[in-house]
Amino acid sequence: MFMAIGQRTPRRKQGYVAEYCPICRDVRVCALHSVASGWHINFIPLGPAKIVGHELWCESCGAVYEGNPGLYTEVVRQTTSDAISLAARTSPDLMDRCRERFDLDDAILSGTFDPALREPAIREPFELLNASIDIRMKTPSLDAPAWAALAIGLLGAAAFAGAIILRSTNGGPRPGLGTIGGIGAMVALVGFFTAAGRAASAYSRYIRRQAQPALAKCLAPLDPSLDELKRLRKDLRRAKSLSHHALDPKRLHTLIQAARRP
Ligand SMILES: [Zn+2]
Repeated sequence: MFMAIGQRTPRRKQGYVAEYCPICRDVRVCALHSVASGWHINFIPLGPAKIVGHELWCESCGAVYEGNPGLYTEVVRQTTSDAISLAARTSPDLMDRCRERFDLDDAILSGTFDPALREPAIREPFELLNASIDIRMKTPSLDAPAWAALAIGLLGAAAFAGAIILRSTNGGPRPGLGTIGGIGAMVALVGFFTAAGRAASAYSRYIRRQAQPALAKCLAPLDPSLDELKRLRKDLRRAKSLSHHALDPKRLHTLIQAARRP
């Protein structure tokens, strides 16, 4: 019998805190996750997984950062759209703790930064996105339409199985059963393939819908040229940085120019 043995990395949401997101260049609501590590055989967990760290997931741009629950006075259970009020509850020392970062981003946003910092500042958000891209590549997730397709697929499979069982227990073919079974099998196939397709494309949807617009907003004050973005993409590919997946120079340049318009 074939046995698939591998490592699993279950993540569990602990709640929400306010943290400074250097890609959004602002205080953001972030989900705090614990990250555990364990083993599985044929995707069945082999004993409990051990917590090995924590992550912060920015609710706005989707970036994932290393998290430290010890930094927060409280972790709230419900998310909110008001990051500043949340910061007063969960991260009252945020301004002092991130003072240097606030000052750097203020200088970038106002155009008063040291020109020597421009190139590293253009590269930085891509480096910061590496972990987010790595996690999404390794753990395809099911969104609401994928779950709906999966549910429809299961209904189709149930109709197919029901038709087969009725046919075998009632001594042969009966009018209508073949049609129900055939339709059930078709619905099951379409449902399962749609769910699998959406899970497989979750990563590229994240890149197009969340990562690239967030990068464009982050880079807008630095106004990188198309040639600079092309050069950066080459550098990131050469360095085997996963973030080169998020750098489609033409699309990103167009988004940056749109973000610069008042
Ligand atoms: Zn963010």
